[in-house]
Amino acid sequence: MLFKEVVGNKEIKAALIKEVKADRVSHAQMFLGPEGTAKLPLATAFAQYLLCDNPGRNDACGDCPNCKKVEALTHPDLHFVYPIVKSKKKHIASSKDCIKEWNAFFLKEPNFALRNWLIELDELGKNPVIAVEESQQILKRLALKSFSGKYKIMIIWLPEKMNPSAANKLLKLLEEPPEKTVFILVSDSVETILPTIISRTQIKRIPSLQTEEISDYIKKKFKVSDEVAQSAANLSQGNLTEAIDLVQGAESQNIYFDLFVKLMRAAYTANPMDLMAVSDEIASCDKETQKNFVKYGLHIFRESMIQNYMKGELANLRDNELEFLKKFARFINNHNITELMEEFNLAHYHLERNASAKILFADLSIKLTKLIKKGV
Ligand SMILES: [Zn+2]
Repeated sequence: MLFKEVVGNKEIKAALIKEVKADRVSHAQMFLGPEGTAKLPLATAFAQYLLCDNPGRNDACGDCPNCKKVEALTHPDLHFVYPIVKSKKKHIASSKDCIKEWNAFFLKEPNFALRNWLIELDELGKNPVIAVEESQQILKRLALKSFSGKYKIMIIWLPEKMNPSAANKLLKLLEEPPEKTVFILVSDSVETILPTIISRTQIKRIPSLQTEEISDYIKKKFKVSDEVAQSAANLSQGNLTEAIDLVQGAESQNIYFDLFVKLMRAAYTANPMDLMAVSDEIASCDKETQKNFVKYGLHIFRESMIQNYMKGELANLRDNELEFLKKFARFINNHNITELMEEFNLAHYHLERNASAKILFADLSIKLTKLIKKGV
């Protein structure tokens, strides 16, 4: 991956190149910034620049054998560590057990969030971790002699998902790093990372992307019209991953749709077991997914009102949603719409302020049973 293929981040790219040219590359760095800021592609482009045989003033050459290997994600000196969902049945204990899936997914579109990766693994709602098994793998991989004679590079995506024993092992490595090794930690949030790890890294803060940077990328990559690219970029508020989700839509939207249908059915029948099961399912998703789910709910309530009162064309809906709304819309009306919108907006507000999702969705599901009844 070349620097020029990484969205935005002009100043950070220049700073990274300057460090290489001055031979002042820190052995442990953290790219820290909000989701959807092209941090993972940036780390990969930096790795390619470090390994390139003919690095230029602004970018790697893209032609040498080292560049080719990085671009195919097959370079023996470049390693990725990322959260996985452990499974005895599927024989998954560390990153290397999902490397085929990882490489294919990354090569298709490298700007993804944890929820996209979990959807790809078909494990959304499960608990992703960087487990202690990973540290043995890291040691093994770093013990190998450098293939290129240059750096060995370990990109750790979302170190905040490391469990404590994995984190402690990593800390030892950061304290006594193997020779010519660069660790790049790519993190959305430092909240759950050991302070001792943070203090061992040189932090590079990655700012949110500009709307134009996002819309330009989306237009080229997904071949959509100016209007679609622009509105996705506007809605995403500087989050490239979310903008991509919006234009690609279908797959992730389906997850919200399925959860929403389940929740509304449980609320309608007022079955406590079903209500608990579905609110737990939502609460076990990551926070972005939870917030998107709440936004999705607001969208469906709005569309229901349009269906009921304006007889408008439901242009913003897909076939399965339309089918569902034919029966569902009549439960959403002047008797409950204001409160429903209020409750969902409130849920979004509390999620942004780190409320306990488990309590929040349990509470919301109980309120929903009453509110749906008001509409019947
Ligand atoms: Zn090169």
